Amino acid sequence: PKALSLRNVTKVYRNGFEALKGIDLDVEPGDFFALLGPNGAGKSTTIGIVASLINKTGGSVSIFGHDLDREKDAAKACLGLVPQEVNFNGFEPVVEIVVNQAGYYGIPRRQAFERAEHYLRELGLWEKRRDMARTLSGGMKRRLMIARALVHEPRLLILDEPTAGVDIEIRRSMWAFLRRINAEGRTIILTTHYLEEAESLCRNIAIIDQGEIIENTSMKRLLGKL
Ligand code: ADP
Ligand code: ADP
Repeated sequence: PKALSLRNVTKVYRNGFEALKGIDLDVEPGDFFALLGPNGAGKSTTIGIVASLINKTGGSVSIFGHDLDREKDAAKACLGLVPQEVNFNGFEPVVEIVVNQAGYYGIPRRQAFERAEHYLRELGLWEKRRDMARTLSGGMKRRLMIARALVHEPRLLILDEPTAGVDIEIRRSMWAFLRRINAEGRTIILTTHYLEEAESLCRNIAIIDQGEIIENTSMKRLLGKL
């Protein structure tokens, strides 16, 4: 099955605003995929729907063959999400945020600690493991959310504007980390409004504007056209 498949997905917000006008999207297993578009295009809405944080108005979504309406738990187990906004409890120690997340997936605590250590080390946060999460810098908070999103070893990792507001050095190290986990076989989708980020990381790309996919191609072909 596809890592992610969207068919005619629509979203009309409560105020009547039509944020998605029938999105079709396919992402292959193992891909590194960019959803690129200007602010307000519908990127976060799309991701919110895929992550079950936002109810779609119509259409269907499946993650590794699991339909989001009929097999929600199985679909969610395949997915790790790194949201744009910090959404952890800043008054918990860094390591607890990762370990507690594993609890939502029924992962035994000892295994959760092992994985937390692995990802916190990989992301350069192990020395900070006992610190209160709120004391971390913005770039560290973002990396903590990446570690949290990976603790249940999801096959698909989705990142919403992963390096927005992160300085260049940290951005480079985050890019290297994402390339590494993609090379290990994990499917990655990121949203960005920043073509260079998509260009540097992604093999395939969809461009969304005003709630519609206006382009869906390989990065190579897109760059050939520009
Ligand atoms: P992006 O992530 O590409 O910046 P969003 O998906 O956040 O875009 O937003 C798409 C459009 O939907 C924007 O015009 C935004 O103002 C609107 N929007 C987002 N959330 C809501 C909401 N809760 N109610 C009404 N409109 C919304
Ligand atoms: P808390 O009660 O810890 O302040 P929340 O009520 O916001 O936090 O969320 C409860 C837990 O759900 C959080 O600890 C976090 O790990 C998890 N969580 C919330 N939003 C997301 C998300 N978008 N992706 C993954 N996990 C999330």
